[in-house]
Amino acid sequence: MNFPSVSYNSFLLLNAIWIAIGIITFLVLLRINAPYGRYTNRNWGPLISNKLAWFLMEIPVLLIVGFGAFYNNENLSIPVFIMAGLFCLHYLHRSLLFPLRIRTKGKQMPVVIMCSAILFNLANGFFLGYYFHNFAHYEYAWMLTPQFITGLIIFIAGAFINIVSDSILIRLRKPGEAGYSIPNAFLFKWVSCPNHLGEMLEWLGFALICSNLPAWSFFIWTVANLLPRSIAHHKWYKQKFPSYPSERKAVIPYFL
Ligand code: NDP
Repeated sequence: MNFPSVSYNSFLLLNAIWIAIGIITFLVLLRINAPYGRYTNRNWGPLISNKLAWFLMEIPVLLIVGFGAFYNNENLSIPVFIMAGLFCLHYLHRSLLFPLRIRTKGKQMPVVIMCSAILFNLANGFFLGYYFHNFAHYEYAWMLTPQFITGLIIFIAGAFINIVSDSILIRLRKPGEAGYSIPNAFLFKWVSCPNHLGEMLEWLGFALICSNLPAWSFFIWTVANLLPRSIAHHKWYKQKFPSYPSERKAVIPYFL
């Protein structure tokens, strides 16, 4: 099967437009909280099970990037295998394990949010998968460059922070509970959303490992989604819990 052909320059232009949409989305999300999790409400139309929505939102990007990178790909070198492998490992966890682990029984999210996340994932998956399939010419020596090695360290550290922090949040509830309490363990001593910090670090590391436009675009979109959400969560904690630690920041220790 052949992918529809797009020239390299047209591809870069499309990806640059997608980045511009990401920056606009960031500005919008600074004003409007994406209505899922603690901000879910019925004003956004029909709702769907939270766990099912997480699976449906996250599985497309895994399939598209996996297909683009691993199916009949003449550019599948060892560096590309590692890049796409790291990406697929993250999304295997996010689409299959994470929805099974979260304790959000009976909780729902708006279908429109799920659809916008699917769209976001389809576009990002397309850019990465298409790049890996058509333009990814990485030699073995790329794995010895400072950006690959630094990126790999940042990616692994980010994944560790993200998974440990999400696990702490998940365990704050007993099975069947749906309320919120103050997390204090691990990096929560310093910031309200270390899970989001870890996720942003992961994709910063990935952008360095790949050093291509789609990977930077993925990082920019992740920041566009998660930085406003971290700021909103921090404000929400301070309003909900009068005893919330005043020295804690939103997402970057001692800074933001
Ligand atoms: P949240 O921190 O809002 O929630 C994570 C989980 O923990 C949810 O199940 C939530 O329940 C629960 N939870 C959160 N805070 C508390 C608390 N104080 N007490 C009890 N339970 C709590 O994370 P998100 O939903 O924003 O994101 C989930 C994961 O997906 C993260 O790892 C994030 O990095 C990633 N993500 C990545 C994006 C990207 O662009 N790459 C975009 C969005 C998310 P509930 O749902 O009921 O609030």
